[in-house]
Amino acid sequence: MKIITRFAPSPTGYLHIGGARTALYSWLFSRSNKGIFILRIEDTDINRSNIKSVNSIIEGLKWLKINWDKGPFFQTNNLYRYNKIINLMLNNGNAYKCYCSKNRLNLLRNYQIKNNIKPRYDKFCINFKNKNENKKYVIRFLNPENGYVIFNDKIRGLIKTNNNELDDFIICRENGIPTYNFSSVIDDLDMNITHIIRGSEHINNTPKQINIFKSLGCKIPKYAHVSIILGDDGKKLSKRYFSNNINDYKYKGYIPEALINYILKLGWSYKNKEIFTISEMKKYFNFKNFVKSSSIFDIKKLNWINQYYLNNMSIKKIKSNILPYIKENKLNISKKPKIENVIKLFNKRCKNLVEMSKFFKYIYNIDIIINYKVIKYILKFKNIFKILIIIYNKFNKIKFWTYKNINNIIFEIKNEFNLNMYNVCMPLRIIITGKKNTPNINNIIYIIKKKKTLYRINNLINILFNFKYFD
Ligand code: GLU
Ligand code: ZN
Repeated sequence: MKIITRFAPSPTGYLHIGGARTALYSWLFSRSNKGIFILRIEDTDINRSNIKSVNSIIEGLKWLKINWDKGPFFQTNNLYRYNKIINLMLNNGNAYKCYCSKNRLNLLRNYQIKNNIKPRYDKFCINFKNKNENKKYVIRFLNPENGYVIFNDKIRGLIKTNNNELDDFIICRENGIPTYNFSSVIDDLDMNITHIIRGSEHINNTPKQINIFKSLGCKIPKYAHVSIILGDDGKKLSKRYFSNNINDYKYKGYIPEALINYILKLGWSYKNKEIFTISEMKKYFNFKNFVKSSSIFDIKKLNWINQYYLNNMSIKKIKSNILPYIKENKLNISKKPKIENVIKLFNKRCKNLVEMSKFFKYIYNIDIIINYKVIKYILKFKNIFKILIIIYNKFNKIKFWTYKNINNIIFEIKNEFNLNMYNVCMPLRIIITGKKNTPNINNIIYIIKKKKTLYRINNLINILFNFKYFD
């Protein structure tokens, strides 16, 4: 049997952590079984669906490299097919039109609640057939009254529901557009989906959907409902501590594989393994290792994994990941130094790609930002004006721009002025980079070469001169 899975988001918001995780599981299951993975956009709730959400979902999946073999299919392009089946069901009595007003349904509901009866539709319209052609109606599924719906959830085990707990639920709205529970079944059927992996908030929909499958005499797919994800306060994931939007992690410079690795483990585990390559995920993925309880989203753990990836990735891979951020910062990396050499300076000390690409600014740009505060700070160093002039002249005389020659000059200055290393390197670091915290400053001076180094020192000598003069 060819495995076919799907990710079927409703485009009513961005791609969130939970959505990305179900997409990942469905994708992995199809990939590890040489199956097919389909992307289906469930946009039949036309008041809440929007193209911005579709784009955001697709952007997120692409960034995570969760690639689909077919689609995206939009359910609103398939209305003809749904209506054809609804008509069939109306004709064979598996569905019926309901003309009840909102008012009547409200009264019914209130009465039931008051009398301790579970609120459900009372089949009032079941025998109306087509008598009220001009009045608005919805279409309801005629749910069986007796017996049970039983399915063996791949994660949760046997789940049994009494049919008398289910309603004659609406399968087609007044506007002629089917509801999720119906269109989803028709597509799962037409697309020959073998395994439906989705969030456990859908567990209550599954018996309804199975009853539709049964009424159409079709084979029922396998189901797996994954646990929910909570925030570290034990409540539903909210925006309070971290974003629930996958694309925010892209904009913040996370490594997609690191995020994938993290969300994989939110609800699934394999031995005590923390770090998985994508091919390891495909190799080990199975339904046995799911956890049934809810999982806690822990941003610290995600950051730890992200940093691990950044520190251990090949330079070539970091390069391909960081290029979009470099483009965004409008850095011209076609000039020297070679980007690979720059990455080597930073990859062990950065938390994410955005941070790293910010460091690249003082490597590739000519000018750096020197503000009033920085100047004040530099002026605190004794003899700084004199020192800078001497450094400038010494650097200017260097014939061969080697790490050793740069180092020697810094030592000469240190001895000449009887300073400690900090008092030579700190002002130099700020003048060259605009920052207090950088990798070894000799390395940076070496890598940005003579022209840029002299330019920046000279620039600062001028600024300091004017500053002193006018202050
Ligand atoms: N459109 C549903 C949702 O976004 C998908 C449910 C399913 O996978 O069947 O929650
Ligand atoms: Zn009715």
